[in-house]
Amino acid sequence: MSSFNRRDFIRVTGLGAATAATGLPSLVSKANAANPKNVVIIGGGFAGATTAKYLVEWASAEGLSIKVTLIDRNATYASPILSNLVLVGKLPETSLNFTYAALTGVSFVQAEVSDIDTVLKQVTAGGNTYAYDRLIVAPGIDFLDTNGLGAPIIGLREAIDSRTIIPAWKGGTDVTALKQQLTGIPSGTGVFILSIPKAPYRCPPGPYERACVVADWLNQNRPGAKVIVLDANADITAEKHTFSTAFSAMGVTYIPNAHLSSVSYANNQWTVIASTGNYVANVLNVLPRQRAGLLLDKIPGILNASLFADVHALTYESTQIPGVHVIGDAQATPQPKAGHVGNGEGKVCADAILKMIRTNSQDTAQYIANVGESRIPAVVTNSACYSPIKASTAATASYLTVGFRADQSNGWVPTKISASLGEAPSPTGDNWKDMFDWAENLFYDTFNVTRNVG
Ligand SMILES: Cc1cc2nc3c(=O)[nH]c(=O)nc-3n(C[C@H](O)[C@H](O)[C@H](O)COP(=O)(O)OP(=O)(O)OC[C@H]3O[C@@H](n4cnc5c(N)ncnc54)[C@H](O)[C@@H]3O)c2cc1C
Repeated sequence: MSSFNRRDFIRVTGLGAATAATGLPSLVSKANAANPKNVVIIGGGFAGATTAKYLVEWASAEGLSIKVTLIDRNATYASPILSNLVLVGKLPETSLNFTYAALTGVSFVQAEVSDIDTVLKQVTAGGNTYAYDRLIVAPGIDFLDTNGLGAPIIGLREAIDSRTIIPAWKGGTDVTALKQQLTGIPSGTGVFILSIPKAPYRCPPGPYERACVVADWLNQNRPGAKVIVLDANADITAEKHTFSTAFSAMGVTYIPNAHLSSVSYANNQWTVIASTGNYVANVLNVLPRQRAGLLLDKIPGILNASLFADVHALTYESTQIPGVHVIGDAQATPQPKAGHVGNGEGKVCADAILKMIRTNSQDTAQYIANVGESRIPAVVTNSACYSPIKASTAATASYLTVGFRADQSNGWVPTKISASLGEAPSPTGDNWKDMFDWAENLFYDTFNVTRNVG
């Protein structure tokens, strides 16, 4: 497997045409080599790590001098992608852990970012400050305590803090902890409740995929135990045919429009009070409503009313705070909150930042003015989500794909390319194999690591 070089990227997205048409290389500052630009990236997930990797590779290929610093609170990134297979014992947790050691040329700092000063243009992490010319923030998501109607869910925050309710929506040790809860479910009368938040949330098919693999695991290992899905949405939000068919076959009870108002634990069981009724469970897996990572609260004014960051999809620069780019799940474009598209956004952002440096553009508006909007080609990103459906025996998976195009004609708002919409007609064993090839490519393209999962 090889890295995606800039020529490949430009060929796919068309981004290179602007460079060729406008002769941007002649605008490169001759002083650049003596005065390298500092790019600081916070968050080393699929979005942030990809940006770091491609900034270094592409700048080096062009002889552009930049310093790329990637900061993450953890030395090891735990992929949420494929983590439902850790939950049901199909993959070891460690198979989805990645370090940043193979990102040659990236200066990695393990530290919690505690402050961002967009006036002084510096980030504080682990007691040190890091000056930046351009800042990329990719902190993923954090959780809200309210239900889809905006009312508080009594008892939820305390239960998550005490780790009696474990969302396990960020991968890693949480998934193993939820797995331990799952194995404690008794045969016969056992119940696993999965509560799905109102959209938008990370990975549209992910919760339904979890319901399927957990139901499959219970059917194999705890006969008679059941899965109940309490969905805050009015209907299944992705791959409806696939998941409703699987729910019927596996005995999953699906309840739409279910807004939780309280959760409590007594006498070894959970009681859930929801708008659709009261339920009891041995294991309660609440996926809370989501917002951009809390880190963005350190940049006043960057979040919109939905608590995600509005960005210009040509550069992923914030529409509110110049010099700060937001990518991945934390940004507010209509693209799904998914690692594959976050990887694509990272490449678009890396390419744009290099062009902004080359054209001495301080912000997106200046970049557009410098190049000429009509000469800037469309930005294209794409997303794929693979969902394991049955993981025990005769394993199957499904998939969902979509591409987005942003250009002058649609005001640079990523818009679905209708011809790109694709969905598995039904779960198959071939899709199960393809799922691991797809994940392997994504892992390599992000972290430069081959893992041979599956
Ligand atoms: C079960 C499941 C299945 C999924 N399947 C798919 C799939 O098939 N396809 C797909 O495309 N996507 C899938 N996803 C979604 C995908 O995992 C996420 O969309 C993706 O991880 C988001 O990437 P990100 O870089 O935006 O955020 P993250 O991956 O969450 O990375 C954010 C990083 O920021 C760091 N950070 C946050 N705050 C700070 C701070 N203050 N200081 C330092 N570091 C900080 C965190 O430590 C973290 O490493 C799935 C998700 C789940 C849960």
